[in-house]
Amino acid sequence: MITVLKSGVTTEQRAKLIEWFEEQGVKVHVSEGEYQTVLGLVGDTSKIDEDLVSALSIVETVKRISEPFKNANRKFHPDNTIIEVGGTKVGGGNFAIIAGPCSIESREQIIEVANDVKKSGATMLRGGAFKPRTSPYDFQGMKGEGLELLLEAKKATGLPIVTEIMNANHLPLFEDVDVIQVGARNMQNFELLKELGKTNKTILLKRGLANTMKDWLMSAEYIMAGGNENIILCERGIRTFETYTRNTLDLSAIPMLRSLTHLPIVVDPSHATGVAALVEPMALAAAAAGADGLMIEVHNNPQKALCDGPQSLTPEQFDHVVRRVNKVLEAVR
Ligand code: PEP
Ligand code: MN
Repeated sequence: MITVLKSGVTTEQRAKLIEWFEEQGVKVHVSEGEYQTVLGLVGDTSKIDEDLVSALSIVETVKRISEPFKNANRKFHPDNTIIEVGGTKVGGGNFAIIAGPCSIESREQIIEVANDVKKSGATMLRGGAFKPRTSPYDFQGMKGEGLELLLEAKKATGLPIVTEIMNANHLPLFEDVDVIQVGARNMQNFELLKELGKTNKTILLKRGLANTMKDWLMSAEYIMAGGNENIILCERGIRTFETYTRNTLDLSAIPMLRSLTHLPIVVDPSHATGVAALVEPMALAAAAAGADGLMIEVHNNPQKALCDGPQSLTPEQFDHVVRRVNKVLEAVR
């Protein structure tokens, strides 16, 4: 349920109303927008008399929210959420470019790629230390040692870092990580999501391999229900019957989610296609369709990459993509 307040309502009047709602057992989320204040009620609102609330002199409108996701709902928070992380912003017109290798492989590799992507305009550095591989016999990442190297690259470049978590027990290792990625395979690891909800870290929540937008928003809701509202959604393609591409990029998710949620939406054309040559056209399309950013895999030697080489761009190719994306952004702004 949402309650839109009339303009000019005093903080005391507002506080009294919130107290009354809370006495009835619901949590109140306040969204102070440019033009109006919205009180979002989460919990069992069935006992709250809608007509009674509507009749209050300070209330403009009252509406029941039918969608099961409340905190992530745009109706709760009409303005776009802007996430601020390590001196950079994502959302509300701020375009993020997250780039780096699929996995951290050595000090030389991560520092070299970090410097290169920064030069080309990346706003964040990515690199996997804990890798969710389909085969247990494949490279599983450098784990703690990889995180150390990623932190070195952060220090060397000043770029905020994004890296994936697979186990909530590893959280202490992520203290200096700016953005914690929840990968596609863990999108519905509800125990992990609940633990992340207790932190104040920014979470990059990737769409599950075969999940609907509603499933995805409900996973965001798990994190938000715990009190952590710093979430960036990442469309990375979904499983379909197609085999020429690794996944099928669902670009329609960008405008659809834009209407459903206030959270920023970035697109990962690398995992969405699995083919380096398709990354640029899909990155341009995502920018044109209104994404708040991109996540692109870049490797200094894709042929020798220990993970996802075929979809990784060289630093030169990445530089070219960023230039063209910026042109698209200017054109659609
Ligand atoms: C990744 O970003 O390296 C990754 C494993 O992505 P996804 O979870 O989207 O497959
Ligand atoms: Mn990868």
